[in-house]
Amino acid sequence: MILAVRVVVLAIICLIVWMLVRAHAHRPKESPVISEKSQPAADIAVNIDRAVHGLSRAIQVKTISHADLSLTNYREFERFHFLLESLFPLVHSKLKKKAIGYNLIYQWKGQDSAKRAVALMSHMDVVPATEKGWKYPAFSGAVEEGYVWGRGALDIKYGLIGILEAIEELLELGYTPSRDIYVISTADEEAGQKAGIMAVSEVLQASGVELEWVLDEGGIVGEGMMDGFPKPIALVGVAEKGYVDLELAVEVEGGHSSYPGKDTAIGILCRAIAKVEAVQMKSRLGSPVREFFDGLGRHMSFGARLIFANSDILEPLILKQMLKNAQTAALIRTTTAPTVISGGVKSNVLPPKAKAIVNFRLLPGDTTQDVVNHVSRVINDDRVKLTVLSESPASKISSSESEGFRLISQCIHEQFPEAVIAPYLVVGGTDAKMLEPLAEGVYRFTPYRISKDELAGMHGVNERVSIENLEKAVRFYASLIMNI
Ligand SMILES: [Zn+2]
Repeated sequence: MILAVRVVVLAIICLIVWMLVRAHAHRPKESPVISEKSQPAADIAVNIDRAVHGLSRAIQVKTISHADLSLTNYREFERFHFLLESLFPLVHSKLKKKAIGYNLIYQWKGQDSAKRAVALMSHMDVVPATEKGWKYPAFSGAVEEGYVWGRGALDIKYGLIGILEAIEELLELGYTPSRDIYVISTADEEAGQKAGIMAVSEVLQASGVELEWVLDEGGIVGEGMMDGFPKPIALVGVAEKGYVDLELAVEVEGGHSSYPGKDTAIGILCRAIAKVEAVQMKSRLGSPVREFFDGLGRHMSFGARLIFANSDILEPLILKQMLKNAQTAALIRTTTAPTVISGGVKSNVLPPKAKAIVNFRLLPGDTTQDVVNHVSRVINDDRVKLTVLSESPASKISSSESEGFRLISQCIHEQFPEAVIAPYLVVGGTDAKMLEPLAEGVYRFTPYRISKDELAGMHGVNERVSIENLEKAVRFYASLIMNI
């Protein structure tokens, strides 16, 4: 007996020592180093006045897209296309442009046609803006206080202007990329339709285009993103969650509210929703979230390193902690959000039917069928009928060890040397996922260092982009193109 106790104590001591050793070795990885062959863009003389003018003019064109397409004014998109032609004459004379509806594809022929191409993406449409609450009018493109102001500045006309300005400048220098580069700008990203990128994807696939990787929006260099984390974090999206709208419907006999039966449609439905909220899909520390915390943990205190270096052993503890916060909970499980409910029409009538929509955001690895099975098991009531109204699977997970990820990291490090670069799971949806059939790697990052406060301007009021960040964006894209 005493021997057995001794063995257990010894095993625990060994485990603790092993965990401490792992924590000690859990140090920051080396920063991506610009290789000798690579060409940093630091010495490119960015024409920042032209970039600022271009972004300001771009904001003034109201390329607003609506979920109800009949509300979209396509004359503005035509105006936007003309504006791009006037702002970037070399881009429009040297690159091959194809319009698919109001979506644009530019092809810049590279030196080696045998190499797979790369695509840079940035949509041209914006969400509507209220008149009130803006320091400078929403579509003024005002250049004030070191910023360019207006709807779409941050989401994401600065990305498109940054890409085209970088190409214009490289063309002025007589530059030809090593391989084909595509620039893709869709006109309906904010409308949620994805019709634009699907049409673009079909055209590229029909032309036999194969992409080594794609870079779209979805990550930024964030300040104060995690409580207690001392450095800005460059979030590079390597995957994005999927989407399911599930309808829960109950049909029973209606009647007069003065003599209700034991169960009513609304009562059954509400109990079902309460169950689905109470018992959510299982949480787990999967890829790329594990890599994300692995990367960040290396820059934290010894106590935090002790936890993250041993995430395989301490996973239940980490998950419990992450579930306390809605943002981190969304990274470790398929989320459950009842968003719509309807039932009765009059206070003294028992409705024969009540229904609700529950929106799920799928973790990579979970499927629509997993959600339906889970909900059906949890509700365990045949009177609640389930119907999938819409779905979009989670993306695949792109490698954070690939040449593309390495190059993107290099260029981030060049512009934002203070930031810790981490692969990330994007909880929203981007156009880029639709290019998965033809792209090996799909990455989501736009070069912008931003505080939580500024980030609130996205889809809100006082959306703005600093001139300093716009200059970094031009250099970032130039560097990327020069080293692709
Ligand atoms: Zn966007």
